[in-house]
Amino acid sequence: MIIPKKEKLSAEELKQVEKIAEDSECTILEIQGRNRCVYAILGDESKEVMFKRIAGLPFIRKVDRIESPYKLMDRRSALADHRVKVGATEVGKDAPFVIGGPCTIDPANPNLFIETAHALKEAGVNALRGGVWKPRTNPYSFQGDNHSLDIILQAKQETGLPIDIEVMDSEQLKLAIEAKVDVLQVGTRNALNYSLLKEIGRLSAGTDSAVLLKRGRHVASPNEFIAAAEYIVAEGNPNVMLCPRGTTPGLEGYRNHPDEAISPLLRGKTWAPVVVDPSHSVGHAEYVKACSLASIAYGADGLCIESHIDPAKGIGDDPKQAVTPEKMKEIITSSRLLWEQRYQP
Ligand code: PEP
Ligand code: MN
Repeated sequence: MIIPKKEKLSAEELKQVEKIAEDSECTILEIQGRNRCVYAILGDESKEVMFKRIAGLPFIRKVDRIESPYKLMDRRSALADHRVKVGATEVGKDAPFVIGGPCTIDPANPNLFIETAHALKEAGVNALRGGVWKPRTNPYSFQGDNHSLDIILQAKQETGLPIDIEVMDSEQLKLAIEAKVDVLQVGTRNALNYSLLKEIGRLSAGTDSAVLLKRGRHVASPNEFIAAAEYIVAEGNPNVMLCPRGTTPGLEGYRNHPDEAISPLLRGKTWAPVVVDPSHSVGHAEYVKACSLASIAYGADGLCIESHIDPAKGIGDDPKQAVTPEKMKEIITSSRLLWEQRYQP
C-alpha cells in the first residue's frame, strides 16, 4: 500500500509509480478515501526492488507491506483511518447507524412504503431499506419489480434519507448505480459471489454508493467474510460495511443462528464498520429488540432492521419479522443509551 505525501498523486507521479510496478509485473490501484487517495499494489507485492524504488520517490510518504489475506481491509492497512459515510452521516461515529424499512416493497401498494418511510424518519432511522429485487428461496414467490425502485427513490426525495437496496446481478447493479442508490446491499446468498463482488467494487468505485455486505449464511468464518469485502475494496470502493445476519442451521425457535457475537472479532481485524441485521438473524419481530441491543453491546456500529407500518399487510418477511415504527423508535432510543454506556475496548 502506497501512501503519498499529499492527498493525491498527480497524473505524472502516478505514471512513475505505475512504471516501476509494471517492471515487477504488478499494477497500481488508486483508492479514493474520504480525505486522500492511497494506492494498492496488485500482484506480488513482496518484490524488494520494486518496494525500495517506490519508497524512494520524493513524493511518497511510505510504502506499507502487511502480511494479511486482506491487506486493504486489515486494521493495520493504510485505510485504517478510513471512515464510511452514507449520505451525510459517518457510520458509527456518534450513535448507532440504523437502517430501517420493509423486507420487500409492494409495488401494488406504494403508499404503504411511503408512509412507512415517513414514520421511520420520525422514529430516527439514518437510512431507509426496501427490497426492490428479492432473492427468494421459492422460485414461485414474488421476485420483486423494477417499479419498486421508483417508489424507494420517491421516499428518498420526500424524506431526505439515504436508501439501501439489494442487488443480485449486473443489470440490477447498473440500474442502482444510475439511480445513485446510497447503499448497495449484497445478500447472504451472494455473499461469496466473487464475480459480483468485483463488479460492484469496480462500478461503484469513485461514486458515493457504499456497500452493505451480508455474511454468508453457511457460517462464513470472520476471515472469509472480511476477504469477501476485500474483493470490493480491491476494485476501488473502500466504503464497505460488514453485516452479520445469522447463519444456518438456525437455533431452534430462531430463523438462523444469531451471530452478533462476532462483532468484536470483526472490529479487531478490520477497520470496516459492522452493521448487524437482527431481523434475519432471529426472524421474529418479538426478538428483534433483544438481538439489536445485544449487537450494540457487542460493539456493532449499526443495525439494519426490517420495519413496516403495518407488518400484517407486508409481503416477503414482513408479516413475521418486521417491527412497527413505534417499536423501532424504542429500539433506537435504547440502543443509543447503551451505546453511550458501553465498554470501549
Ligand atoms: C433482506 O435483507 O431482505 C435479505 C434477503 O437479506 P439476507 O440476504 O440476509 O437474507
Ligand atoms: Mn427480508
